[in-house]
Amino acid sequence: MTEKCFKPPFMTDIAIAIDALTKVYAGGKRALDGVTLDVPRGGIYGLLGPNGAGKSTLINILSGMVRKTSGRAAIWGFDIDEHPRNAKASIGIVPQEIVFDPFFTPFETLELVAGLYGVAKGKRRSDELLAAVGLSDKRDAYARTLSGGMKRRLLVAKALVHSPPIIVLDEPTAGVDIDLREQLWAYVRQLNREGVTVVLTTHYLEEAEQLCDRIAIINHGKLIADKPTRELVGMAREKAVVLTLGADISALPDHGSFEKVEQTGPREVTISYNKDRANAGDVLAAAAAAGLAIVDVSTREADLEDVFVQLTRAAA
Ligand code: ADP
Ligand code: MG
Repeated sequence: MTEKCFKPPFMTDIAIAIDALTKVYAGGKRALDGVTLDVPRGGIYGLLGPNGAGKSTLINILSGMVRKTSGRAAIWGFDIDEHPRNAKASIGIVPQEIVFDPFFTPFETLELVAGLYGVAKGKRRSDELLAAVGLSDKRDAYARTLSGGMKRRLLVAKALVHSPPIIVLDEPTAGVDIDLREQLWAYVRQLNREGVTVVLTTHYLEEAEQLCDRIAIINHGKLIADKPTRELVGMAREKAVVLTLGADISALPDHGSFEKVEQTGPREVTISYNKDRANAGDVLAAAAAAGLAIVDVSTREADLEDVFVQLTRAAA
């Protein structure tokens, strides 16, 4: 890794620089294994990976909740070991777990956090933040009357109390219903337009694909991709058509344009093809020519699973 990322903030366009970051938990679990990546300033960066990949471990090292085993990290140019206070002041983290103090109202919670960060009374924006996350009418409610989604939104507001240039959301939509999800994303996009660098972790490619301009994939604690979203999604070469048939299948069809043919139901065949060599039309025509009585067709788009399988296969 080059030294540029650890220069003072005014000399870099990198929001978060991570260099050979490793975490081995007590008990021996290697949750992060030499991860090196740069989160550019100004974008929405997705950290993608299946459960247990190490996403939260990475985020929790940045927030100071987990102590790294080795490697370096710098937030907004501040090394987390050398300048922990500045590093912390530069980032707002919405944790995956809902940690919650039941004794304070949403307004009190934000005021308390503002106090902890040393935000002067005149500069606090608790009401503005509550409005932004749609909690104005719960301003003075008992915390225990908040739904799970409301608590999560309050956590977002909490992370923004000190107006950090970077916000990190760890699996923000786990357990959040669709309307709320849309609302949350609209707000995340707005923050980003206002100049906030956003990092989010998710195990849904679709979510990352819609929101992020850059996506990194980690698996078993290792970085296996870090690319502009369009490039990454384009890496999935394999697509599939799923054919529903009007009669039982006697023999699976074969054709040069097929990568793989599988019987996926009593009257269902899934044909995979390489999008560089064929398209859905070619595949359908070949299946029909092979005598299949096709009554319905759906296509399966490439998803994280596909990209992922390809990348892990390539890495093996
Ligand atoms: P993700 O957020 O991608 O789902 P995590 O960072 O939570 O992944 O976990 C990565 C790995 O580290 C998992 O195998 C998990 O079981 C393990 N792990 C997480 N936290 C701890 C801990 N406090 N002690 C021991 N192992 C842990
Ligand atoms: Mg996690």
